[in-house]
Amino acid sequence: MQTASTDVVRRINRRVVLNLIRTRQTLSRAELARLSGMQRSTISLIVEELIGDEWVLEGPRGRLPRGRRPTFLRLNEERVIIGVDIRPTLTTVALADVNGRFLSQEALATPGQAEAAIDAVIARIRNLQARCAGKKIEGVGISLPGRVDPVSRRFVFAPNLGWRDVDLEGPISAATGLDVELDNAANGCALAEEWFGQHAPERHLVVVTVSEGIGAGILLDGKLARGLNGMAGEIGHVPVDPAGPLCGCGCRGCWEVYASNQAALRYYGSADLTFAELLQRADQGDSRAVEALEKMAHHLGHGMRLIVAALAPDRIVVIGDLTRSWERFGPIIENEVRAQVPRGGTAPLVTPAHEDGMARLRGTVVLVLQKHFGRALG
Ligand SMILES: [Zn+2]
Repeated sequence: MQTASTDVVRRINRRVVLNLIRTRQTLSRAELARLSGMQRSTISLIVEELIGDEWVLEGPRGRLPRGRRPTFLRLNEERVIIGVDIRPTLTTVALADVNGRFLSQEALATPGQAEAAIDAVIARIRNLQARCAGKKIEGVGISLPGRVDPVSRRFVFAPNLGWRDVDLEGPISAATGLDVELDNAANGCALAEEWFGQHAPERHLVVVTVSEGIGAGILLDGKLARGLNGMAGEIGHVPVDPAGPLCGCGCRGCWEVYASNQAALRYYGSADLTFAELLQRADQGDSRAVEALEKMAHHLGHGMRLIVAALAPDRIVVIGDLTRSWERFGPIIENEVRAQVPRGGTAPLVTPAHEDGMARLRGTVVLVLQKHFGRALG
């Protein structure tokens, strides 16, 4: 018992030190001791171990008054993560360091069949491995437009991809020799928002990803809600109108049929346009494009009332191409959300993700790093 509890304390202390170095970028052993409340001797032992494991690097030396010259510590940027963001049309494969700085990224059209997509991703990962000689690749994080069963770790629900019950982890791990972590894009984004976000971490946070479909990542009391078979957060498939258009999930009139990027394109009436092009047309003064986007925004805000009533979050973070045009979407969504907060409740803040376009990839980095650093909120 004594040994077990000592080991647990040692692991917790190691995580505390790693996270202090991660969030402060550089600091000395003395600052670590002061901020953590640990003894200088304990800090020295942990730091030596982290340097030995090549998580932390020393230097350069700083200067303080009266001649003392402490050595500064930082995370080892030669430790890298491969992030893969699979979306129905586009897949992005990127390389990032442990600080979440992206070193490279490339995009490919997502193959329609799961097997072909897995082969394409493996080929890109192998290229990166060949180019990363000398760096330590910590693992592969994969962000998915659907749900992963936390027990079987298989990709079980992907209505906008049309894949069924796919094992991505097995073949990718076998072909590359790397550890693979995978999760729903919104869950990854929720973790990343907590990890890299510029707001103080909130206890109750809902991330809503809006693209071909709509998904949610739910942090309640600081914990990610997964639910049975990992299906918590599939709020895009709440039926809004049972007589509405058919959804990819097989039901009719789901929220995402009215409020996703595809919905705005349908309102506009042009099938061969991308959502980015629709945003551009609205910016150029195309009034039909403005109308289509405003209709989408109203439906988005209206559907978020479900989230407010059911989960009462501090904040809702919106992720997707629409955040590039937040001055158009933000006010409409906020008005809709505020219009019907249950009596006695407080309307949550609704904000776009802090850095446009990279949120899903940041999520892939956190999926891999959280094994070593733990969760930001603990
Ligand atoms: Zn649906």
